[in-house]
Amino acid sequence: MEHKTEQSLLSPETMENIHHCNKCGLCMAACPVYKELLLEPASPRGKVQLSRHLLQGDLELSPRVKEILSQCLLCGSCVAACPSGVQGDRLFSGFRWRVTRRYGVDWKKRILFQLLAHPWLTAGSARLGRWAKDILGKKLQAGIKAGNLPLDRIPPFNQQPFSHQAPEVMNPEGEIRARVFYFHGCATNYLFDRVGHAVLSVLSKMGIQVITPKKQGCCGVPMFLSGAREESLACISEVLKTFASQEVDAVVVDCATCGSAFVREYPHMLGELRSLGEDVSGELIQAAQLLSQKTRDVTAFIGDHMSWLPEMTQAGPLIKVTYHDPCHLLKAQGIGILPRKVLAGLPNVEFVEMEAADACCGGGGSFQVEHPEISAGITSKKIQNVQATGANVVATGCPGCRITIGAHLDPELEIGVLHPVELIELAIKAQTGSAP
Ligand code: SF4
Ligand code: SF4
Repeated sequence: MEHKTEQSLLSPETMENIHHCNKCGLCMAACPVYKELLLEPASPRGKVQLSRHLLQGDLELSPRVKEILSQCLLCGSCVAACPSGVQGDRLFSGFRWRVTRRYGVDWKKRILFQLLAHPWLTAGSARLGRWAKDILGKKLQAGIKAGNLPLDRIPPFNQQPFSHQAPEVMNPEGEIRARVFYFHGCATNYLFDRVGHAVLSVLSKMGIQVITPKKQGCCGVPMFLSGAREESLACISEVLKTFASQEVDAVVVDCATCGSAFVREYPHMLGELRSLGEDVSGELIQAAQLLSQKTRDVTAFIGDHMSWLPEMTQAGPLIKVTYHDPCHLLKAQGIGILPRKVLAGLPNVEFVEMEAADACCGGGGSFQVEHPEISAGITSKKIQNVQATGANVVATGCPGCRITIGAHLDPELEIGVLHPVELIELAIKAQTGSAP
């Protein structure tokens, strides 16, 4: 790959995109990192201009420039706010690729990527992690932090990966109205198996046949966005082999980040990998386009077919619920109204909107480990807004946001963080008195 120039690490569209910036600064008010640091280089406008100079060759990719470019959550808020269509998130993630080629991948990330690329290794580590958490006990865990997340506030690993628990085909009781593939992603597989069971239960109550392929790995996005693009290719190809099919009506996804990868990023990612000279065939890009058309976030899919839900009347006490918009759902996939409509339509839910529900939670994958102070400032605003609503539950369709928000809520307030589909399952079960 050494024959490739640095410039060719970005697609021609991404490079052209830089010149659309007219330096108006409208992206700055939307950027959580800029709002925290109030420094021009930390703003999207500043980073776009830095990128322009890097490409022109009049600026070196020095450690300081590397540091500035890493101060980004890839939340897409600048893209949503930009009147000129500058795709800041793609640009900055492209530069991470250049950074990893120049400086290599951090050893902690390298270990993580190896785990994600090999499901058997992840399953083994999850078992080990569960065992270690059990023997450490709550008190000791509270003193250990992963980035700015206290260990005792991170959920325990599942007893078994969800893929071992789920049936490969789940048929509904009555008429089959639709047939879907279910991509459950790593978070449901290793941490939130309750979400997976709720997806299966609600979809089958709606008359949907759900196929959950046993062999489904990581979507590859954590590696891709961290700049380890070559490593992500094996994961992406594997996902496309399993899920890009005409045979189903939809591919439902319960994780906002995996969903945004399938809907928005895969065709683009593969195009960039191809421009680097990686072995990416036209068929693979076509498969990515098909997967992009078929993919639907599970809450949005349920919202599209609300009339298929069983009849529900109020049973039991009302739960006060607020909703946090994951960046990868709202800004990357344009899904914000449907989850609210679904939640507000549940008979046992009193829906309350929080201030700045669409503001990033500050997690950003490894961002909270790399920049714990910036991340903590952003998260504390989100936590204040959640707590000010007086809600019992905050619903969100992103496991990363769930972990970040859940770890920082005041434990005395006993606010739960759930996926919207878990609340739908609760409402359905309340009808028969079988709610847990
Ligand atoms: S909003 Fe768009 S055009 Fe304006 S400064 Fe930001 S990136 Fe440039
Ligand atoms: S992607 Fe988010 S954090 Fe990064 S520059 Fe844009 S608004 Fe700021």
